Amino acid sequence: MILPAPPSPILLLDLVAEHAALQPALNEAMQAVLDSAAFIQGPAVEQFTTALGTYLGDAHVVPCANGTDALTLALMSLNLPAGAEIITPAFTYVATLEAAALLGLRPVLVDVRPDTFNIDPAAIEAALTPRTGAIVAVHLFGQCADLEALRAIAQRHGVALIEDNAQAIGATFRFADGETAFAGAVGEIGTTSFFPSKNLGGLGDGGALITRDAARATLLRQLANHGQSQKYHHQRIGLNSRLDTLQAALLQVKLRQLPANTAARQAVGTYYDAALATVLGITIPARDARSSHVFHQYTIQVEGAGRRDEMQLFLRKCGVPTMIYYPLPVHAQPAYAYLGYQAGQFPVAERLCETVLSLPIHPLLTEEQQAYIVELVKQF
Ligand SMILES: *Cc1c(COP(=O)(O)O)cnc(C)c1O
Repeated sequence: MILPAPPSPILLLDLVAEHAALQPALNEAMQAVLDSAAFIQGPAVEQFTTALGTYLGDAHVVPCANGTDALTLALMSLNLPAGAEIITPAFTYVATLEAAALLGLRPVLVDVRPDTFNIDPAAIEAALTPRTGAIVAVHLFGQCADLEALRAIAQRHGVALIEDNAQAIGATFRFADGETAFAGAVGEIGTTSFFPSKNLGGLGDGGALITRDAARATLLRQLANHGQSQKYHHQRIGLNSRLDTLQAALLQVKLRQLPANTAARQAVGTYYDAALATVLGITIPARDARSSHVFHQYTIQVEGAGRRDEMQLFLRKCGVPTMIYYPLPVHAQPAYAYLGYQAGQFPVAERLCETVLSLPIHPLLTEEQQAYIVELVKQF
């Protein structure tokens, strides 16, 4: 059998081309940092975080070294007693609970919804105990978790809501009362990552915390900088977790491109939705009408034992790279065996790990490439 070939090479993400289009501005930003030699806490850090805060509906943004540190700092700022329970989804990137585990807090896993892949509010209710200290929700693949329910549960039970927003920067959620809010700016604290492959990616590691509370922002800023209120005056045990000036300067350039990039991702998502909705054997990602979707990933489910892996292989042979986010649920990871969960305890998460497949979706994916990918999925 002769396999078809793509109209032009298809990548999961084309950062080389994205950056080439921004080259003059990126060069200028880099040169300015070189010239200033203010590599740590230089002026670009404040400029970028202010610009991001404005973009996120006038929230406070506290920069830090990466998205995992952002989660660590968020939990540190809550001053929870040792062993406090942190409710998080079983279907997420491991960093979501790594921070809790390192701080001597106890991750309590709950299952996710089969349609949106996001944390199931009913499962959270069932997992709450007097020791619950926080809920860490994840806006997976670019769509908000059920913030209406999450906010209500957190308020009713007096526990903090932390939003792991590494994948949904710029997504918005509409509440029943008509209020619209940015993902990451609803709970006590939102966290995000500027890892290069995220929707707002730097040219290296970076992260940030988002909050509407000025006092919380001040505390987080201290914690991210050795717990100091001023140089050599340390109020708390903190981290050395700063966003490099160079990354901030480059991120400022990339932030200007974010709305257009998000719109381009959404156009691909809309195209895939329409083209794949009626294809037998696959399920397109469910849309929550209350949330926008910024399509960090476009993740379909492929039904039938072993079919997902077969489709991935078929697509690869035809020049279409795909990814499996995530191949294992968190409770099946050896590092988290100590939590004592058993296979079968989170059936939705476990099933998703066997059926999900993320198709290429990035701002520069051409219409010909999209059509080619859709055609292959249909053929399969
Ligand atoms: C990427 C990611 C993180 C971690 O961010 P880093 O900057 O790589 O530390 C945390 N949570 C989720 C859901 C992520 O996708």
